[in-house]
Amino acid sequence: MEIKFTKAETLKAKPADETKLGFGQVFTDYMLVMPYDEGQGWHDPEIRPYGPIELAPAAMCLHYGQTVFEGMKAYRTADDKIQLFRPMENFKRLNKSNERLVIPELDENLAMECLMELLKVEKDWVPSADGASLYIRPYIFAVDPFLGVKPGAHYLFMIILSPSGAYYSTGLNPVSIYVENKYVRAVRGGMGFAKTGGNYAASLIGQDEAHKQNYSQVLWLDGVEQKYIEEVGAMNIFFVIDGEVVTPELQGSILPGITRKSAIEVCKSWGMKVSERRISIQEISDAYDAGKLQEVFGTGTAAVISPVGHLKWGDKVMEINNNEIGEISQKLYDTMTGIQWGKIEDTFGWTVEVK
Ligand SMILES: *Cc1c(COP(=O)(O)O)cnc(C)c1O
Repeated sequence: MEIKFTKAETLKAKPADETKLGFGQVFTDYMLVMPYDEGQGWHDPEIRPYGPIELAPAAMCLHYGQTVFEGMKAYRTADDKIQLFRPMENFKRLNKSNERLVIPELDENLAMECLMELLKVEKDWVPSADGASLYIRPYIFAVDPFLGVKPGAHYLFMIILSPSGAYYSTGLNPVSIYVENKYVRAVRGGMGFAKTGGNYAASLIGQDEAHKQNYSQVLWLDGVEQKYIEEVGAMNIFFVIDGEVVTPELQGSILPGITRKSAIEVCKSWGMKVSERRISIQEISDAYDAGKLQEVFGTGTAAVISPVGHLKWGDKVMEINNNEIGEISQKLYDTMTGIQWGKIEDTFGWTVEVK
């Protein structure tokens, strides 16, 4: 499909200090927009200057939340190549989210073509500072001006780009996590496995409570019994118990993270035992008391590997590995970021170069 290009009158100045970028605050010169209209399908993709879009006040996405999104990064290697990490996995997952929210399928190759074209135009925006990257946000939302509840007949697919700083500015600091036992994020049969704004809206109140208690993130339990571990807001969760790596199995209410999947594959390639199964918070507490809980870490595109130093469940605060990063967490972090930034050989074939 031909992608139209509308040139910006002026270009923005690139960030002067890439170490102060933060996350998701600066946007590049261009964005990609592609409409979907019933009967016509996805059509007329356009790369045009980044800026406000016109939306009807009755646009369905604003009222009933028919939206999905993805999150990935472009990395600049030491020899000045730009590369992506398993990008087709993101577009496959986008379609799984689409299916759950009754949004029309978007051809994964077309989505990839749109992204590659946009990245070619915006290559210079990929930061070169250590740990910095260009965050990529593809998303789809229903735009029909209609207040009835039904799946939309008109959508926009957009991609915006945001240069973002290193997640860790002072090494891998362990985070403190609070186990939420009042609210739930998602239930089986709901849309927990889909990357959609509604799951985040449901999670804000727990996040707020965690912050009030000086914890940075929430560990969600299952929505039925509130016994079994699900995930951490925007990260999947892993435990190392007595030498074995364990993570909750994907059963519908957990987001199938690409970092999760990759971490499992890397651990298996090292010959480690990895189990995807149901894990109760009681089991974790018991393993802690028995001195068998060696490491806890989260996985996600933003932080890659995020060691957990404290885990608060009710009145109990578990300090993991003396609040220091564990051996496996560190090795996973070095391996995955090494592949992403092209510092070590990608024996898995996960990276895709932007040419
Ligand atoms: C995106 C996301 C993750 C992490 O997925 P990655 O593909 O590893 O970035 C985990 N949980 C939720 C709720 C998410 O939205």
